Amino acid sequence: MSDEPRTVVVSYRLPLTLRRVGPGWRGERSTGGLATALGPVVRGGRGLWVGAAGDAAAATDPERDALLAQWERQGFVAVDIPPAIHAGFYDGFANGALWPLFHHFPTRFQTRPGDWEAYVAANRRFCDAVLERLQPGDRVWVHDYQLMLLPAMLREARPDLAIGFFLHIPFPASEVFRVLPHREELLRGLLAADLVGFQTWGHAQHFRWALLRLLGIDSGLDRVEREGRVTRIEAFPIGIAPEEFTRTLATPRAQARLAELRARDGRRLVLAVDRLDYTKGIPERLRAFRLLLERHPEWRGRVCLVQVAVPSRERVSRYRELRREVSELVGEINGELGTPEWTPVVYLKRAVAREELVALYAAADVCWVAPLRDGMNLVAKEYVACQEAGAGVLLLSELAGAAAEMGEALHVNPYDAEGSAATLVRALTLPAPERQERLAALRVRVHHSTAHTWAARFLGRLGAAAAERVLHGGPTVRPLPLPDLASAWNRAERRLLLLDYDGTLTPLRPRPSEAAPDADLVALLSALCAEPRNTVAVVSGRPAAVLDPWLGAVPGLHLVAEHGATRRLPGAPWQPLRPGANPEWKAHVRPLLDAFTLRAPGSFVEEKPHALAWHYRLTEPQFGEWLARDLLATLEGVLAATEVRAVPGNKVVEVRFAWAHKGEAARTLLAESAAELALAVGDDQTDEDLFAALRAEDWSVVVGRQASRARFQLPTPAAVRAALQALVSA
Ligand code: UDP
Repeated sequence: MSDEPRTVVVSYRLPLTLRRVGPGWRGERSTGGLATALGPVVRGGRGLWVGAAGDAAAATDPERDALLAQWERQGFVAVDIPPAIHAGFYDGFANGALWPLFHHFPTRFQTRPGDWEAYVAANRRFCDAVLERLQPGDRVWVHDYQLMLLPAMLREARPDLAIGFFLHIPFPASEVFRVLPHREELLRGLLAADLVGFQTWGHAQHFRWALLRLLGIDSGLDRVEREGRVTRIEAFPIGIAPEEFTRTLATPRAQARLAELRARDGRRLVLAVDRLDYTKGIPERLRAFRLLLERHPEWRGRVCLVQVAVPSRERVSRYRELRREVSELVGEINGELGTPEWTPVVYLKRAVAREELVALYAAADVCWVAPLRDGMNLVAKEYVACQEAGAGVLLLSELAGAAAEMGEALHVNPYDAEGSAATLVRALTLPAPERQERLAALRVRVHHSTAHTWAARFLGRLGAAAAERVLHGGPTVRPLPLPDLASAWNRAERRLLLLDYDGTLTPLRPRPSEAAPDADLVALLSALCAEPRNTVAVVSGRPAAVLDPWLGAVPGLHLVAEHGATRRLPGAPWQPLRPGANPEWKAHVRPLLDAFTLRAPGSFVEEKPHALAWHYRLTEPQFGEWLARDLLATLEGVLAATEVRAVPGNKVVEVRFAWAHKGEAARTLLAESAAELALAVGDDQTDEDLFAALRAEDWSVVVGRQASRARFQLPTPAAVRAALQALVSA
């Protein structure tokens, strides 16, 4: 065995299905790219595959349990989801809400009360099953839309676990995604992974856009940094296992079928293979085919469409409606246009045997893949793999993920019946050299980017992403070594504590007024102030009028307001840092800020005695950033000859006296307190001044993972409070 870590694969279904056969049970192995690609990853003790197994037992059943125990020894762990949860989870939230929305069918989207709770409960079951079996060093690879909460659940239990997530279906445009209830929880669910993979680059960009619009989280092209954690975002187009198809095609049975299909009457064979799903565009394609026969009567009797349609999700009413619609359309076309010698559409409403499928792929002159939206579409790749000797044409919907990779196919817009009919005529009349050339290029890619290379690449990237998480913050900003701080703290006779407020002692809130301190925080600050060796100051950008009622009653606490423009010693009145400073400039700047507020809904101006602040946390994020840059540039010109400056902060532009910064306040306090040891904690650009004012031996701590001159780092305000609490107890 190699040194590779164990991989725990989690997907809704196991590649094994448990079936009731008479009084007993039988396990059936699934074929297909995913099973082929991940089988070797988990077999032979290299990992585990956790998923649902098929028919549930009504009561405890020793024979079923024995079979499942045997599976587990081979690495396959069955998760039982009680039927009451399964309906709301699978038919409900996963396939009634996520599936249609992610495929851009907002009108088909529906949720019933209880579906979400069932989705959460089912994800929890998968989580428990994984946690129960996790060994040190394991990595977990979660699959698809049924398990979008699982990364966050696992992360909560195991902060250091390497977690990857792959979405097999498309990620929708953010305007469509936002229709979903609980959309923020789903995004956070995924962000807990170290690596989130999509089928195409386009889907990954939709995801980034949703993060920005719904969570206000900015991301780089291939990564998101949030609360001290990095999530990598990448495209991993899935492939097939081509050798499975070519091997089947070589069997005598498949060859015999191929010979039979080829011996037919010289008619052109156009093949369509789909699950009976409304995303596959089956009625649209039938209508386009009818249009072709109506517009081009010369093709009647010379071309035949074979539609294989595998029944799917029949418990969901939309799927039953679709089945009826397709049957009716096929009946109409054959009834209206067919002749005793010719049936225009041959409709196979069932799964066909593997040998039959590969023979059809090999025999078809055209494979017409027409989904209205699809994560990848494997049929397109399987067709290419089976066209070993042929020179068939792939007609591919530009809305399938496969279109991003398969540029040599003839692309169609499946919603455009006329365009599709015209492209089919083109496919049927394309000269042989061009067909061969296109197919050869497609074949190289299908054989090169397979299910195996896909799995290997994903796991390789997951390893790198998890390693990066471990290393991150290493060379420049180290995590705060609390025991070292505590012992230095204990040794010092005089200690100074400089604490930023928003984003440091409390999480950032959409509205500044919502961030009032809770009782725990007041108690924590009081305990710190009660120790005579401590000088404790809250150094904030907030005005005195806000800090006073919030923290003015904490005995012994120093308050510094407006980044240092004014301050209050314990028990004394507020004093401006530079008496006599004249804030008359505010009258000129205020109208400018008001004009920006009118342009950006959700933004507002905060007026303080010595400063003005333009807040845009509630504004559409990209628009807000763009306007903020515009405002800073404008103010730079307006304020050039004054002692006033515009400074960017966290979703805020502050306009204030150039001398009113936290560094100045820190230097004053350092001198007055004669502290041997100072500890400063902050999260914002304005806190960098605070850190800069410290001496080399002092302790500076930034909250979050942004670039900072601080020596140390803590991830969240909650971690800051825990660290301060530890100093109280020390
Ligand atoms: N397929 C099958 N039996 C059939 C017809 C098709 O197993 O009778 C398989 C086909 O080989 C392909 C899969 O169904 O691997 C369809 O995958 P695709 O990505 O095209 O669509 P999905 O069903 O995953 O949305």
